[in-house]
Amino acid sequence: MKTLMKLIVSAVFFMQVITAQGTEKQKDYPVTPIPFTKVHINDAFWFLRMEINRKVTIPFAFKKCEETGRIDNFSKAAGIMEGKYEGIRYNDSDVFKVIEGASYSLSLHPDPKLEKYLDDLIAIIASAQEDDGYLYTARTIDPENPAPGAGDTRWSKLRGSHELYNVGHMYEAAVAYYLATGKDTFLDVAIKNADLLVKIFGPGKKHDIPGHQEIEIGLAKLYRVTGNEKYLNLAWFFLNERGKAHDGELYPESSRFALYNRTRHIQDHKPVLEQKEAVGHAVRAAYMYAGMADVAALTGNADYVKAIDRIWENVVSKKLYLTGGIGSRHEGEAFGDNYELPNLTAYSETCAAIGNVMWNHRLFLLHGDAKYLDVLERVLYNGLISGVSLSGDLFFYPNPLRSDGKFKFNQGALTRKPWFDCACCPGNLARFLPSIPGYVYAYKDNILYVNLFVSSHAKVKMANNTVTIKQETGYPWEGAIKITVNPERSEKFAIYVRVPGWAQNQPVPSDLYKYMKKSEEKASLKVNGNSVNLNMDKGFARIRRKWKKGDIIELNLPMSIRRVLCHEKVEDNRGKVAFERGPIVYCAEEIDNGENVHNLAVSDNVVLRSEYRKDLLGGVTVIHGKVLSFYRSKAGKAAFKKEQKFVAIPYYAWGHRGEGQMAVWLERSRD
Ligand SMILES: [Zn+2]
Repeated sequence: MKTLMKLIVSAVFFMQVITAQGTEKQKDYPVTPIPFTKVHINDAFWFLRMEINRKVTIPFAFKKCEETGRIDNFSKAAGIMEGKYEGIRYNDSDVFKVIEGASYSLSLHPDPKLEKYLDDLIAIIASAQEDDGYLYTARTIDPENPAPGAGDTRWSKLRGSHELYNVGHMYEAAVAYYLATGKDTFLDVAIKNADLLVKIFGPGKKHDIPGHQEIEIGLAKLYRVTGNEKYLNLAWFFLNERGKAHDGELYPESSRFALYNRTRHIQDHKPVLEQKEAVGHAVRAAYMYAGMADVAALTGNADYVKAIDRIWENVVSKKLYLTGGIGSRHEGEAFGDNYELPNLTAYSETCAAIGNVMWNHRLFLLHGDAKYLDVLERVLYNGLISGVSLSGDLFFYPNPLRSDGKFKFNQGALTRKPWFDCACCPGNLARFLPSIPGYVYAYKDNILYVNLFVSSHAKVKMANNTVTIKQETGYPWEGAIKITVNPERSEKFAIYVRVPGWAQNQPVPSDLYKYMKKSEEKASLKVNGNSVNLNMDKGFARIRRKWKKGDIIELNLPMSIRRVLCHEKVEDNRGKVAFERGPIVYCAEEIDNGENVHNLAVSDNVVLRSEYRKDLLGGVTVIHGKVLSFYRSKAGKAAFKKEQKFVAIPYYAWGHRGEGQMAVWLERSRD
């Protein structure tokens, strides 16, 4: 397709979406997010992280892709370099993810040097593509001897080959690059590949599934940009094919493989509409649920919505860490049973956290309910950004809630590492961080949603008006949020300001966690200096009035320290307490508390204080107070109590000051 044609097609498609002309309107999410390119963040917390991602993580990840042969694999497949395939069969995907991140970064910060680097890299990728559109360097380099696990022939081992997973990331990257630069070089590669898949797979053609979901999200994005329904239909087809035992490999639940059951592992144990519990590999699952949400929104399929709603209930009430992490088992990187949430051996992969944000955001866009944003915010500020160091060049793959200073959870390490053989997480962070501004605002008809509290400004084109909105706040350390509203025309519409669950005595939208004491401090709201009642609607304070230029909303969230208790069924957390302040989950580290972190008991009655420490870990609010340090006898009885100082830091910042003990959940003393 020629560039001009494509631009016309996508322009028409976007106009249909934006102008919402009756029946002409393409089906989509009822709530529309304000894209990250239209939201300008100037906030101390996120701006810094995004700048480090742009200046350190993205170049660092490209360098690692070069050093580890990931980029050479494309050169070899293109025939411009000699040699064998290097690395694991899905390494192409890492390069695609970093290109996606770099493209997002280009959208926000034009950078000719980076654009030239991407152009050259995309030219190599295009040359590595086979004539009919196939792209999988693990096979193309030497089709007679493909990389281990790739399968002898094309599509012969889809459950493990990641052929379709890789190209799913390629579609996402190609769309990102196209939207950032207007250049169609990479999009052409994606379209040629997707056209091949449309020829191979579908009703009356090959019936099978991708062993690792991701292509569904990529195909939905390709559909949005091209307006070509065949890509959406293929995403739908792949989802509907799950649970049909194409190769007859259904293990019975009771078999010795029950713990790490391949069919459950890839969510292929039941048709997706019959799945009620989150099982198997957590990243696969989260990508699948996000893909199902996309297909539901773009086709209007209500059954898909019901299915993912049911699975969400299961995760939020039984399988979610306090940090927002999901997937508790190292074995199979998988969801555990209900309430199986161990702390020391928590897997809670960084990629699964990113998938959890993607999924919850889509559910918000479907339902307009802030409970999904409560989960999203919990993941974002805790178990997701813990995945990358403050310096931007060290990464956690798992994100446990406890460390004994011995159990090497991070692929042989006790702290963050620069890279991994299976390097899914660093590239995923590189692409996720620039997209954060896209989660802050949204609109639906004449409702403007303020979802997250981040100093920023954005221009929002609503159904009948254009509104410039500006936020000023010291969140997450301070609870005061000032929002200035500037509509082009003075008129009546609604602004929905999220009041987080944690500010309403509900840490998560379930009974999995609760605050030890209900706080009497309430969130409060003012408009132009006058207090207004909180008219709550699905977790948002609804302010419907005739807005005029310069109107000011002030939201005040109570930022007291909260003690959190866990559902009794979670064995590891019985008799324990955790600490939160605002959206931040805290932990105690050895460096601040000595080697006895796991034998510290916090009395219900002790006064804890918070203090902002500019000099510490890039500037954080710490919690401090007095606790009892004790020793356990062999019989498990606590003895020899002595008082000592206690300091807790935000969980996301742990592991920056050497190896050692850490705990989110501490012993609770009722003394
Ligand atoms: Zn990962």
